[in-house]
Formats: sequence, C-alpha cells, structure tokens
Amino acid sequence: MWSTARKRILVLGGGCGGISTVRALHKALHGRTDIEIALVNQENSVVFQPMLAEVISGTIGLLTTVTPIRDVCPGATLSVRTVERIDLDNKVVITSHGFRPEQPVLPYDYLVLALGTLDNFGAVRGLQEHGLHCKNLGDALVLRNRLIHLLEEADIEQDAALRRRMLTFVMAGGGFSGVEAIAEVNDFVRDVARRYPHVDPAELRVILVHAGPRILPELPASLSRYAQTMLTRRKVEMRLQTRLAAVTADEAHLTDGSVLPTKTVIATIGATPNPVLLALPCQQERGRLVVNAALEVPEYPGVWALGDCAHILDHKTGQPCPPTAQYAVREGTRVARNIVAAIEGTAPRPFAFSDWGMMSALGHRAAVGQVLGIRVSGWPAWVLWRAVYWSKLPGVTRQCRIALDWLCRVLLPRDYAQLNVAPSERITRAHFEAGEVIMRQGDPGDLMDVMIDGEVEVVQQAEGGERVVATLTRGAWFGEIALFNEEPRSATVRTRTSVNVLSVDRRTFQTLVAHLAPLRDAFERLMQHREAADQARCQQHEQEQVVF
Ligand SMILES: Cc1cc2nc3c(=O)[nH]c(=O)nc-3n(C[C@H](O)[C@H](O)[C@H](O)COP(=O)(O)OP(=O)(O)OC[C@H]3O[C@@H](n4cnc5c(N)ncnc54)[C@H](O)[C@@H]3O)c2cc1C
Repeated sequence: MWSTARKRILVLGGGCGGISTVRALHKALHGRTDIEIALVNQENSVVFQPMLAEVISGTIGLLTTVTPIRDVCPGATLSVRTVERIDLDNKVVITSHGFRPEQPVLPYDYLVLALGTLDNFGAVRGLQEHGLHCKNLGDALVLRNRLIHLLEEADIEQDAALRRRMLTFVMAGGGFSGVEAIAEVNDFVRDVARRYPHVDPAELRVILVHAGPRILPELPASLSRYAQTMLTRRKVEMRLQTRLAAVTADEAHLTDGSVLPTKTVIATIGATPNPVLLALPCQQERGRLVVNAALEVPEYPGVWALGDCAHILDHKTGQPCPPTAQYAVREGTRVARNIVAAIEGTAPRPFAFSDWGMMSALGHRAAVGQVLGIRVSGWPAWVLWRAVYWSKLPGVTRQCRIALDWLCRVLLPRDYAQLNVAPSERITRAHFEAGEVIMRQGDPGDLMDVMIDGEVEVVQQAEGGERVVATLTRGAWFGEIALFNEEPRSATVRTRTSVNVLSVDRRTFQTLVAHLAPLRDAFERLMQHREAADQARCQQHEQEQVVF
C-alpha cells in the first residue's frame, strides 16, 4: 500500500537503471521506516536484453530472460502501471488507471527518471506499419513466430517468387543489438529450414543493412572486419553505407535505389525519446534529459535522471555516456547514493565510471569484443561473452535456468514450435447483468460500446439528483463523446436488463475516425444531435422548475 506519512522516493522505470537504483537504495536505507521506496513500471518483470537475441532462435527459453521485479526489488512498493504524466511543479506522477476509473496521483519527495527510450520507427516510411522491433520479450516472441510462420508458408507455396520473398529476412541496423539479432535469425532459419522438405536452403537470404562503412562501429576496425567476415561466411549479405528508405508489406526499399522483396524487416536503427519525458519543461539534448555531474536535473533539485533517457557526460572524455546496460546500472547506484546524501544533508558526488569493454555475439559459437583493452574474437570471445553475461544475470535461479538451456541446446535439436499469441484484441465482447454500471459520469473515456442486445439507461447527475436522459437498445452505441473530445464521461450508462456489448478501445476508435471520413461524419452528426437534445432537455427542466 502507498503510504502518505513517510517520505517517498519514486523511481519511474524498472529497467536496468531503475532496478539498480532501487536495489542500491534498499541496501543503503534498509531499516529506515520513515522512507518509502516506490517503483512504477509498465510490466512486472525486467528483461535481460543482452540475451534477447538467443530467445529468437530458441537457444534459451522464452521466460528465461525475464525476472519478476518483486524478486529483485523486495524492499520497494511496486506499481505495475504506465506513467502517463509527470508534474514536476506539483511533485506528482499520474499513472494509468487499471481497474478503477480514477487515475492514481502519486506524490513524491525525490524522483528518479529511468524510463529508457522507444524505437525510432517514425523515421522510415512504412516501418511503423510493417517493421518488427527487437527490444523486449514480446518483440522476440513475435519475431520468432513470424520466422516459423514464413517457413511453414514457404514449404507449401508453389509460386517461386513469393517463396523467395518469404524466405528473405532483412535487418536494418548494424550496431550491437542488430548484429546479435541477425546472427541468431540466420542460425535459426538455416538450421530449422532442414526440417522443411520443400524449402531449398539456397533460397534463404538474410541481409544486414547498415548506414556506416562498417558494422559494430563502437569496436576497433579489425574486430568489425572479423565480424563482417564471419557473418558473410555464414551467408549473411551485407549492405553497407545504405539505409532503409521505405518498407511495405512486400518490400524493403534502400537508399541506394535497390528494392529487396521481403516480408520481414527488423529494425534496430536508433531510439526516440519517451513521450512522457519529452513533455517535461527541462533541458533536453536530442530528446535525452540533461543532468549535472551528480545526475540531478538542474532545473528541479530532487529529480534525477539516468540510463538511456538521460544525457550524461563522461567524466574523462566529456562525451555523452553510451546508452548501455553497463552504464545504466552504475548510474543507478550513483543516483541512489546521491539521494541518500540529499536525505542526510551531505554533498552529492559526481558520476564516474570506466567500462570494462564491449562484446558482441555473432551466433553459433563466435563473438568479438574488446575487454580491458584486449581484443578477443572467435570461440574464446564467445566463451567469455557467455561467462560475463551469465555472471550478470539477476539471481541464481536465472543463472541455473540459462545454464540448463545452453546445455540442452548442445544435446538436443533446436525447437521450432510456433506459439500462436494473437495481438491484444482491440474490439472485445463484454456481458453485464441488470443493474450494473457500464460507464460512470466523470470517468476518463477509454472505450466506446455498441449494444448487441438488452437495454440500458443513460443518466446524468443533476442538481436535484439524477435524471434519465435516454434509453438505448440493440444497435445503439455510447461512450463516443468522451473518446472523440478526449474529455471525461458526460453521463452514466446503467443496464436495465442483461446486456451484451462490443467494446472498441480508444486507439482503435481514434484510428478509425481519423481515417474513415464517413464514420467520422456520422459520429459528428450524432454528437451534435445528442448535444442539441441535451440542451433542449435542460431548458425544459429549467422551465418546469420555474412553473413549480
Ligand atoms: C536487444 C538489445 C540488446 C542489448 N544488449 C546490450 C548489451 O549486450 N550490453 C549492454 O550494456 N547493453 C545492451 N543493451 C542496451 C541496454 O539494454 C540499455 O542501455 C539499458 O537497458 C538501458 O537501461 P534503462 O534503465 O535506461 O532503460 P530500460 O532498460 O529500457 O528500462 C526502461 C523501463 O521503463 C519502462 N517504461 C517505459 N515507459 C514507461 C511508462 N510510460 N510507464 C511505465 N514504465 C515505462 C519500460 O517498460 C522499461 O522497463 C541492449 C539493448 C537491446 C534492446
């Protein structure tokens, strides 16, 4: 339960940076009953991103890379909600409303912003609609399912051109996450394709598109060359100094004018700021919050930012710190110590960290990297990669599970079962018994309902109590005004009989009315009609009161 008596440190974002902050705070403030550590994250688990690529290929199990936040942050009050707005002037955070209609308002004394970034898919035409992400567990699952689905389709497809299109996989972005993911995709499709009698392995194309002259530009040139040679030997085609220009359901258009027939475009081509943070009245550098050396937001003392969402200058080079987990974790520890310093009235200390190096896995028993200045490549690098990341996994349980998965991968054939997880439905059916409230006046609008059967009454709260303004039956709809105007509900809808409805969520409704002009016109006319009827009713009501 949220407490109001204690001072609250509120951490927004339960990724690498947020978790590290909470853990360090818990350690430092353990036993302090006057301070509450609270964390808001939109999921109840944290994913270990460095191993996400291995989930795509099934080298490790689906749930092995995720850890419940409650297990790693036992001292914190966790709220699994989406942060919708941050009010720095009034020191409150507004989150999504969950099952209750009111949006919770969370006050804080100290605030930590660790909300990361989002994929920048808006920069390329069609990428938003047709591109695949590779950032969290859901993305890995969707991508894995897509690869298997395309192999299944290709196996029964007679049209050779269509089959080749289905068997061409394009990755845009030759940084660490892009290279690791495409290496695993390549291993997976080439290994699993042998189980499909009508798929000729020669038809498989795996293509890496990269804007720069060499992949993995953060590593020394010799290691980039090694990675390129290794991937090319494993039949990954390289398109360097080329960008993705546009994506359709059937093609990837590149800036060199070439068009790749494909049904799979994965992209790891940069990040865009979290919109919640973009709205803050603080200095930002390319969408990242500018902080001082102690990681505090200068305009708002008591507010800290870290990880991918913060613009932090390296103490030695003066360059921005890279957006990596290594840095986010250390920044989290520093922020926690500086919050403790603020509570105790001592001076904060600047953030200082020198990373131990960088590594990238290249699929099947190969990796490259530079660790403590030493360059490593091939299988020794791969062993080191596994040892380093395994040691960084949160908790012994996770470590045991991953070790078992790796062992099974050596002993058993690769699993290629498809998991049919449909995307969350945007139009759902709901049932209500007589006397239930479907929506309440004053609540935020998040659904529009279409009546399948039954009868409801629409009531408004007026001075002398409530009054019924309409009764609706099969075919009628309600809730559209709040969605259309983005305002709270203007009336309560209560069932008179048992009722079945179709509920359309806000995003679907807004997308439909934005693009389907006749639907928008129909809604606008209906709303005008309802507003006019409402006004007439009010006038009649006033006149009746005067007469009495
Ligand atoms: C595929 C992949 C592989 C990577 N491999 C490596 C690697 O090998 N080594 C390395 O050092 N780094 C790696 N990185 C980078 C590293 O994962 C990030 O730099 C690091 O996670 C940043 O931490 P963060 O806490 O700033 O953000 P994140 O870890 O992204 O955490 C942000 C959190 O905020 C939550 N959130 C966002 N918006 C809201 C909202 N409105 N309401 C509530 N919660 C919200 C998110 O759900 C998330 O849990 C990799 C990244 C990816 C995508």
